[in-house]
Parts: sequence; structure tokens; C-alpha cells
Amino acid sequence: MRTVYLDNNATTAVAPEVVEAMEVYFTAEYFNPSSAYERAAPAAQAIKRARDTVARFLGGVDPSEILFTSCATESVNTALYGAVRANPARRHIVTTAVEHPAVYEVCKDLARSGADVTFLPVDRAGNLDLPTFIRALRPDTLLVAVMHANNETGAIFPVAELARITKETDPAILFLTDATQTAGKLPLDLRGAMRHVDLLAFSGHKLHAPKGVGALFARRGTAMRPFMLGGHQEGGRRAGTENVPYIAGLARAVELAQEDHDAVEARIRRLRDRLEAGLLASIPCVEVNSQGAPRIPNTCNFSVHFIEGEGMLYQLNEHGICGSSGSACTSGSLEPSHVLRAMQVPFTAVHGSVRLSLGRYNTDQDVDHALEVFPRIVANLRRLSPYWDPAHERPRPEAEAMMQGTRGTVGGETRGGTNTS
Ligand code: PLP
Repeated sequence: MRTVYLDNNATTAVAPEVVEAMEVYFTAEYFNPSSAYERAAPAAQAIKRARDTVARFLGGVDPSEILFTSCATESVNTALYGAVRANPARRHIVTTAVEHPAVYEVCKDLARSGADVTFLPVDRAGNLDLPTFIRALRPDTLLVAVMHANNETGAIFPVAELARITKETDPAILFLTDATQTAGKLPLDLRGAMRHVDLLAFSGHKLHAPKGVGALFARRGTAMRPFMLGGHQEGGRRAGTENVPYIAGLARAVELAQEDHDAVEARIRRLRDRLEAGLLASIPCVEVNSQGAPRIPNTCNFSVHFIEGEGMLYQLNEHGICGSSGSACTSGSLEPSHVLRAMQVPFTAVHGSVRLSLGRYNTDQDVDHALEVFPRIVANLRRLSPYWDPAHERPRPEAEAMMQGTRGTVGGETRGGTNTS
């Protein structure tokens, strides 16, 4: 069976060009880049070249402002814990209710250890309210952490504008953005539009580098205590022998993302729009989440009323289609994701949420296959639902009234509607 990979927000295939760029550092040039002998020089030079490449990719920042890490999660942990430990006089953090757990869980942990954290709510489309953001900034605010684009819905936050407002309010407030879902997709111009951003994190494996490498931009002068101690690497800011092959791979991946960006983006957007239009046309009672927000062009997150996302994923898997669900049932909880709950997705739909995310290797045949399979899967699952009338392909009258509610009772159990803000 052919695999149709529609989960590129989870990870991407490593590009052959990236594998080629990494190979020599596994074999002939395996040396420790910190070693003093001449034979180790190519490894050290590879890191220097990679740092220059990533600095250019981020709009021409200074290479000394780039730290290589193992992933975006490490980059974000380094930035958040590092900033909090270096600035004990300020205790307030502003973030959003829809951040990836890499930020969300760290903020909750900081709140448990005495920080005061404001989780900003979003509207039904996943947008932030600007006046609410401005009101949240306080004289004791240490840091603002707002993601660039949401991993579940693809909704883009106006990070450049939020960072500018933050600095106009108080230049001492640090601004962190998690750009894991936008690196390689949207411009990250840290000397232009995004010049007020102090800290930016991303991971290699979302843009065709391998899993296990990431980067953190930390603007010069940003007070931050190191998160990993035990070595002089990365200017003493991130100890541990550098992962030379993966760092070389990350650099090749960001080059690749820039080389053919516009053509790849146009193709992905066309495929995503075709997929989305096809699903909306062929499945009754389905909603595209964040359709009303600016979105990255590869992500399609939709909620099908009256069925479980996990059931859909299971059956998609049977047809070779890889996607992901907005609920965390696989981890033993039937709770929908905190993102969809914060967006107040109606309770009849929030459990039936699926994310399909496209990438540079997807084709029209992949979309054709998904469009052929999906409506059948939904019809089969809905036949099992007491709220669906399969004869007329619509909800039963008593269920129709429930479709707008964000809280409700199904079989005596209260579901949905919990807002984390
Ligand atoms: N932030 C966002 C927005 C993400 O989508 C992800 C991964 O899905 C991460 C952070 C964490 O990335 P990693 O697992 O590579 O550390």
C-alpha cells in the first residue's frame, strides 16, 4: 500500500540534498570540532559555515547570535528558563492559550515556581485580540512568548507587530517567538520587520533536516543564564559536543527552503486549498478551523461533527494516509487539545478534529486519494452515531441544536468548553 504522508507539521522527510551534505561528517570528517589538531578543522569550519548560513536565513543577524541546540523544545526551554533565571526582579510572563507544549508546559511550570503567567485567549478563528494583548503588559513583565504560527491550525500571529508594541511599551521586556512551524515557510527577517524579536526558536526536522537539531536566535545583549552547563561550546551558552553532521544538515535545509521557496509554496497552497474545498464539498457538517485567520499555506485542520477524530485517523491509516488528531486520545485522555478548546470549537465537533499538513513532496495524487477515502470514512463512522440520520445525511433534529454549543452533555458526561486562558 502506498503511504500518503499528510503530517508534515509533525515532521518532514529528510531531503536527499540534506543527507548528502551531512554524510562526510559521519565518515571522513568525524572529528571533534573543539580538538586543537589540524585534522579537526573541517568539522569546526562546517559549524562556522552553518552558523553563517542560519544567520543569513534569519535576515542577516550576527552569527554569534545563533545557538545550535537539539530541537525547538530545547531552544524554547533555554530561552524561557534562561531569561527567568537571569532576571529575578521581574516575575510576569505573557503568553497565549494556544502555544505548543514546549512553551505552554514551561510557562505552567514557571507559574508553579512563583512566576505570574497571563495566558491570552483567542477568538473562534484562533486570533489574538490586540487591545487585550496591550492591556496584559505590565511594569513587572519580564517576557512575552507568542508563537509565529500554530502547529495545529496553522493560524499566524502578527509577531512583528506584537514585538514592536511590546518594545514601545517597555524596551526591557523580552520577546520570544516559537517559529517552528514557519521556518522555511514565512520570512524570518530579524533585522527588518521582526527586529524587535529578541529570541526565536525552531527545529530542523520541520524543514527537511533530521530530527535532533534545532536553533535558537538570542539577540546580542539578551540576559540569559545557560540552560546546559559543562562545556565551553556555543560561546559557553550551550554546553555539549556539537552535532556536526546534523548542524551541517540544518544549514543545507534552510538553503534548500530558500532556493525554490515561491514555487514550492504555490504548489503546496494549491494542493491544500483543493483538499480543503473537496472536503467541505463532500462531507456535510464539517468546519475548517482557523479558516478566518491568516494561515500558513500547508495546514488544514478540520472538525467533523458527531464523530471521533481517533476513529477517522485509524481508518485513514488503513488506507495508508498519515494525519493527526486534535485530541489526545492516544495518550490515554479523551480531552480535546488545549488549542481547540481555547478556540471554543463546538463540543459536537471538537472530538472529530483532524489535521492534515502538506509538504514539498506531496502530489495531486495524494490529494485525490484523501478526497476519495475521507467522505466514505466519515459516512461509515457516522452510521454509528446516535446523533446522525444516515438516511438523510444530516444530524437528527435534536442534535442540530447542539452544534453551536461549546459545552454540552453527551451520554451524561460533560465534554469540551474548558478554556485554558
Ligand atoms: N513548537 C512548535 C510550534 C511545534 O510544532 C513543535 C513540534 O511539533 C515544537 C515546538 C517542538 O519541536 P521539537 O519536538 O522538534 O522540539
